[in-house]
Parts: sequence; structure tokens; C-alpha cells
Amino acid sequence: MSELHDDIGEVLITAEQIQVRVRELGEELRSDYQGRSPLCIGILRGAIMFLADLIRACELELQIDFIAVASYGSSTRSSGVVRILKDLDEDIKDRDVILIEDILDTGLTLNYLLKNLKTRHPASIEICALLVKEGKQKVTVQPKYKGFDIEDRFVVGYGLDLNEKYRNLPYIGTLKPELLDIEYT
Ligand code: 5GP
Repeated sequence: MSELHDDIGEVLITAEQIQVRVRELGEELRSDYQGRSPLCIGILRGAIMFLADLIRACELELQIDFIAVASYGSSTRSSGVVRILKDLDEDIKDRDVILIEDILDTGLTLNYLLKNLKTRHPASIEICALLVKEGKQKVTVQPKYKGFDIEDRFVVGYGLDLNEKYRNLPYIGTLKPELLDIEYT
């Protein structure tokens, strides 16, 4: 067994469960956006796996773009103060935008991004989040498309990291307690 797997306390969502759900979401998007050509915006870096699998599960004439944000705060807790590190390459005016996010925790990051992107006058904008932490949202951000609700634990894998590690795990899991930032409760 490799070192990465050794750090995992519990597998919460297996690779197979992720793939099944991603296929369902891809089908949902295909049906909702039929005849349209949405722009799928992946929020770097955590959403890359999800976006890559989702767009392959979605038979639409779509485009992709990326935005990178940084949330000030510790590695395991978001502060709500967000800074754009890399902006979009595409103009989203009059486009149907789907914001693809790895995990909705407090909702502060997506809330900020939504406000920012709406000032650019897209035709529509929806959120597709792989994971939503139950009961954690500090602001109302409603993902129209959602993979899984999860309990409030710090998770890694399938794009999600701790200090840039674990993104390439094919499943979503928790870390062994001794590896976690003591700030995270
Ligand atoms: P929010 O602004 O909704 O609180 O947090 C959004 C961002 O915080 C996510 O895109 C992700 O980067 C990070 N985040 C929140 N919860 C977790 C978690 O359980 N694991 C990891 N790896 N990142 C998380």
C-alpha cells in the first residue's frame, strides 16, 4: 500500500459511487441544457477531477474555462475573504454558465464568485457542486446540481487536498486525526 492510502482514516465515497453519481449528473445537465452550449467553469484546483469526469458524462456541445481563487485562512478552514488568482479567459456575457465546484462548505467562496460573475451579465448561472457539507453554510448558496451531502468532516481525494497532497486519490476520504490541522473541528 502506498503512503497516500495509509493516511486515510475512512473512505466516505468510493470511486465507483463517484462515477455513478457523476454519470447521473452528466445526464441531468444534458437534459436541462439541451440545444444550448453552456460554459462549464471549473474552480481551480479542487474541481479538476470532477469537471473532467462530468463533461465526459455530458453529451452537450459545451466549453470549459477555469478560475482560481484563494481563500485566506488556514489550510483546513475557509475565512470568507476570497481573492481571484486566475481569472476566466472567456467572456461570459450572455452565456449559460455552470460553476463547477468540488465542495460547498460555508458557501462563502461560491457566494463571492457568484456575485462577481453576475456583474459580467451571463444569460444564466448555476452551481454544480460535488459535495455539500450538511448544515455548514453561512450564506444561502443553492447548488442546482449536487453530487453528495456529507457530514462536516475534512475530506480529501478526487481533487480535494490538504497542503496540495491527496488530490489524486480516486475516492473521497477523511484523514487520520493526527494528520489534521488542530484548528479544524
Ligand atoms: P467555503 O468557502 O464553501 O467554506 O469553502 C470552499 C473551499 O474550501 C472549497 O472549494 C475547498 O477548497 C475548501 N474546503 C472546504 N471544505 C473542505 C474539505 O473538507 N476538504 C478540503 N480538502 N477542502 C475543503
